[in-house]
Amino acid sequence: MSTTRCSQCSRVIRGAGHRTATRTLCDDCFATYQGLAAGMLASGGNVRRSVATAGWFKRLIGRRKS
Ligand SMILES: [Zn+2]
Repeated sequence: MSTTRCSQCSRVIRGAGHRTATRTLCDDCFATYQGLAAGMLASGGNVRRSVATAGWFKRLIGRRKS
């Protein structure tokens, strides 16, 4: 049984992890990764605000689907 490590924080990932185009991420880093793409645009590149925006981004997606 192989061990998968997060490409971002190097923690061992339980389960399959989350594959992006180039990396495999743990749950926490994947959530941040998703939020960063939108958060960077919304905050003008401020990383701390980008992370905070991750939650907002998830709600936005949920609204679009419903
Ligand atoms: Zn991670």
